[in-house]
Amino acid sequence: MTNPDLAVDCPRCGLRTARFVDLCRNCGYKLWPSSEMASAAFKAWQDADPERALASRFDLELPRRVDNTIDFSARARELGIHLFPNSNWPFTICVGALFLGLAAIPFPAQPRIALAIIGGLIFLYGVVGWVLLEDVRMFPSDSTGSGTEVHH
Ligand SMILES: [Zn+2]
Repeated sequence: MTNPDLAVDCPRCGLRTARFVDLCRNCGYKLWPSSEMASAAFKAWQDADPERALASRFDLELPRRVDNTIDFSARARELGIHLFPNSNWPFTICVGALFLGLAAIPFPAQPRIALAIIGGLIFLYGVVGWVLLEDVRMFPSDSTGSGTEVHH
C-alpha cells in the first residue's frame, strides 16, 4: 500500500472516483469484485499510515486537520470594530425594562410611579455596569478617545 491516493481515474469513464468504493461514482463501473474486498483494501491502506486514520473510503483526498478557531475579539480589535464584552449585565437591563413595561400599564398612578422608579433604577444600574464599568475595563484604550466623562 505505497500509493497514498484515495482517488483513481476510472478505467471506463476516466473521471476521478473514490479508490476504495467498489463502484465508480460516475458511471457505476465495478472497480472491485465486491464491496467487502474494497473495504478490506481500504483498511489495509488506512493501517499503513496513522495520518490516514481520519480518512473515509468515500473521500477523494485525505482530510486535513484545519484549525478553524478564530479569536473574534482580537480580530475585531484589529479592524477597529467595537464589540461589547460578554456579560450578564444585559439580563439586569432586561429586568429593569420589564418593570418599566409594567409601569406603562394603566394602573392607578402610585404603583405606576413605584414601578417606574424601580425599573428605572435597575435599568440604569445595568447600563452603568455594562457600558461604563465592564466595557471600560475590557477596552481601556477605547475610553481615552471617546470621552472623559467616564472617569468621574
Ligand atoms: Zn467510471
